[in-house]
Amino acid sequence: MNIAIIGSGYVGLVTGVCLAHIGHHVICIDNDPEKIKKLNAGKVPIYEPGLEDLIRKYRRMKRLVFSGSIAGAVKKSEVIFIAVGTPSKQNGDADLTYIENVAREIARHMDSYKLLVEKSTVPAQTGNRIERTVRLNLPAKYRKDGARPFAFDVASNPEFLREGSAIEDFMNPDRIVIGVESSRAEKLLREVYKPLKARVVVTNLASAEMIKHASNSFLAAKISFINAVAQVCDRVGADVEKVAEGMGYDKRIGRAFLNAGIGYGGSCFPKDVDAFIRLAEKSGYDFRLLKSVRDVNEQQKAAFIQLIEDKLWIIKDKTIAVWGLAFKANTDDMRRAASLDIIRSLRAEGARVQAYDPKAMVNARYELKDIKFCADAYAALKGADCLLVLTEWDEFLKVDLARARGLMRQAVVFDGRNFCDREAFTAGGFEYYGIGRGETVKTTTGAAACGKK
Ligand code: NAD
Repeated sequence: MNIAIIGSGYVGLVTGVCLAHIGHHVICIDNDPEKIKKLNAGKVPIYEPGLEDLIRKYRRMKRLVFSGSIAGAVKKSEVIFIAVGTPSKQNGDADLTYIENVAREIARHMDSYKLLVEKSTVPAQTGNRIERTVRLNLPAKYRKDGARPFAFDVASNPEFLREGSAIEDFMNPDRIVIGVESSRAEKLLREVYKPLKARVVVTNLASAEMIKHASNSFLAAKISFINAVAQVCDRVGADVEKVAEGMGYDKRIGRAFLNAGIGYGGSCFPKDVDAFIRLAEKSGYDFRLLKSVRDVNEQQKAAFIQLIEDKLWIIKDKTIAVWGLAFKANTDDMRRAASLDIIRSLRAEGARVQAYDPKAMVNARYELKDIKFCADAYAALKGADCLLVLTEWDEFLKVDLARARGLMRQAVVFDGRNFCDREAFTAGGFEYYGIGRGETVKTTTGAAACGKK
């Protein structure tokens, strides 16, 4: 099939290359001329494992092309995926400006049946607004009284890929969700995904839009739940890792997303939780549960800073080493990374920060102007009063701990992801603090507070 993808970011590029891989002819569009220039020169503007090789392969086979022209792409394609950003507004609403712009521009170049597919994460009801926008912006000849415009459809096909394993996730999805209002649209989308042989869930438009927001919010809730549990673990001498393991074997619960840490970040969870809260609010429902999910997530970063202060005492003029900046491992994405808030707080207190990340330092430089970026994990440790592990990159597991300890002024590690080998660090002479591991018992019940056993 001939398919256009409007928006060639993390989702658009992966969708484009994977659809080419399963046999389609794909045009990826972006309105950032630099991005298109890079892609046409064989350079991939983001880091995603396996992406560069596949792009090279399908460009060579002419199944994947990059362009800045929506007009050409609309003319050539029957199915048009919209994969532009839907960032947060100040009040938490999803900012749908890019969606509206794209819908308008697609409409202006339409001259035959097209299926417009929302790939971006959008609040329920967005599909209806896209449809209206298209109708209002069709070429003048189709808007005249008595003129019979051709049919078109709007569908929702939310994306569930995770950065860092995006290609694998796209090619082997747990399910494909298709939100449609016509059998023609359903038939076309089933055809697009036929080679994947995945379970397909067909719903109406609004339900498909809701599935994405509800899924991301549920996952965020799982993270905040275990983070709240971790807070209690620390106070009562329990180890949240063991608690999560014991809970996770229960098939009704599952172990995934029960990793305590410095909270979720990234371009999706924070904005999607906000947008879902706002959608509920506007529909007349106060989604207090989700508001708490968001609050716990914020508290988690504050608690981490507090822990560092408790152990280091004065932060001012301390040298703090940071391993990992990206919001998660295997990506260079810094959008709403927890590391940003933590580093900014420490800088505001007067700490010197020297950081290393295997892939995200180029992007991090735009966000963090006043820290030192280091060439490798060891360089970040030189003269440091403590080490913060903020992203779970495998590379950090291979560090020679004796060498690491020799470089630091104080061998103290705060593992914000419960990722490092606690026993190895402790045996190597480090003071190790994880999240909710029970090392920092804060019991303040009467007897303990008075020092009585
Ligand atoms: P992104 O910012 O990486 O990519 C969006 C791209 O759209 C950019 O390259 C931008 O230049 C382009 N764009 C904006 N306006 C345009 C226009 N008028 N014409 C052409 N191109 C235009 O964003 P992303 O991370 O790929 O996310 C896109 C959407 O997918 C969001 O709604 C997001 O919530 C959703 N999503 C993201 C992920 C993820 O892991 N990143 C996963 C699932 C869903």
